[in-house]
Amino acid sequence: MVRKKSVAAKVKTQKKAYQRRVAQLNKSCSWRVLVLVIQAAKKFLRLRKCKICYKNSDCHCTISKEFLTKRNYKILSNTTNNNISFDIIRDKQEFDDVKNILRTVVSKVCRLDYQRKKQSEIRKRKRSVDYCSPDESVLRKRLKQNNWFNKKYNHDLLFRQNQTQQTACKSRKKYRDNNVFRDKEKKRNRKSTIEKYNNNEEFRENEKTRNRKSAIEKYNNNEEFREKEKTRNRKSATEKYNNNKNFHEKEKIRKKKEMFNRYHINKNFRQQQKLRSNQNILFKYRNDPVYQKNIKEYAKRQAFSKYVSDNSKRLKKIQYAINFYRNNYTPNIQKQRQLYNQRRRIMNKYLIAQSHNCVLKHRNLYIKNLKIFRDVIQEGPDYTCRVCGLALFRNQVIPYIKEKYITKNMSVEMKERIESYLNNSSLIEDTWICISCSDKIKKKAMPSRAIVNKLEVSDVPSELKKLNDLEKHLIALRLPFMKIV
Ligand SMILES: [Zn+2]
Ligand SMILES: [Zn+2]
Repeated sequence: MVRKKSVAAKVKTQKKAYQRRVAQLNKSCSWRVLVLVIQAAKKFLRLRKCKICYKNSDCHCTISKEFLTKRNYKILSNTTNNNISFDIIRDKQEFDDVKNILRTVVSKVCRLDYQRKKQSEIRKRKRSVDYCSPDESVLRKRLKQNNWFNKKYNHDLLFRQNQTQQTACKSRKKYRDNNVFRDKEKKRNRKSTIEKYNNNEEFRENEKTRNRKSAIEKYNNNEEFREKEKTRNRKSATEKYNNNKNFHEKEKIRKKKEMFNRYHINKNFRQQQKLRSNQNILFKYRNDPVYQKNIKEYAKRQAFSKYVSDNSKRLKKIQYAINFYRNNYTPNIQKQRQLYNQRRRIMNKYLIAQSHNCVLKHRNLYIKNLKIFRDVIQEGPDYTCRVCGLALFRNQVIPYIKEKYITKNMSVEMKERIESYLNNSSLIEDTWICISCSDKIKKKAMPSRAIVNKLEVSDVPSELKKLNDLEKHLIALRLPFMKIV
């Protein structure tokens, strides 16, 4: 994580960088001097060395022989002294250069050394003054100085101003640069102001008014600050409201009271409030089905209880209903009502018919028919007529009752004839007779298909009895076939 640098820290770093640069510059200056010195020394040494190599040629110096031959070293050769001397330098100018450089270097070094010594001495003295108990003379001196300073400070206006400015500047600088000092100052200031605030009433009042004023001004002018303040206030209020139960209750009571008062005093507000609440309730009633149901139930219950318990209310209700009916029973309304009733009737009928026709009746019909069909097919053509001997279904025959056909006032001839029609050979008790035969006998005529009417089936001859089904088919006069629809 990168910590953001404060302005003071930035200033400090810049200052340090500047100091470093200055030091480097100084160093480079000194370096330049040193380089010059070294150059001079080198030149000198080279010349000295080359004096040697002038004597014995197998020398390993850096200067080329050409350089040596070019120069005139007669002066060098002339000197017998082997020691280092400035005479070997040929040019007077060069020698002077070297001399000057050396001098400057020496002087500079001396000066620097002197300065350093002096500074260290001063420091030492200061330290001794600070740590050791001050002498009497020193104390006197200080007192004197203080006196003088006070006098001048009190009398001389210009001096005073200068002094105050200076001190202010100094303190400001210190405050700006020194972190520890700044913190200390801040703490001290806070403490002192708090003390003053607590003890001095006038100061307190002044401070309060000043603060309020400044806050109001800031609130009015600075939009951002205003917003912040608002959110802060709201937050703190909600926090307090949520956490502090006592405050919560108090707030509630206060608000209620306030609202109540306002409601009673301010007519406009009252109306607004009423309208708003009505709207709210209506909105809720329309959108919330549960609420709607509850309200409806409640209203119904209330009305019912009132109607039951309060006689006058009931009478009123009844009166109201009668009046309403009377007042509203105009011909137009009558006609409308008739139409409505008619419509309702038709609708009911239609609905009933629909439901019966389509569902129940249809199904019932189907089931019934099926049942009938099943009943019918349960019995085959098992009933034989005793007159014609045909095998018939149940609906084609009726039970045979002797008294129906042979009455007492019949002639004996007639009786015999009718008895000959009825086949008495059958031994079965409850015998059947087909409807057509019975009709004919009732008319005292012989039925056309009666067995007596020469329709007796003779026995099959023995030759034909042996034939199988296929052979029977082949010789048959008629081919009976069935057609199923
Ligand atoms: Zn040499
Ligand atoms: Zn018959």
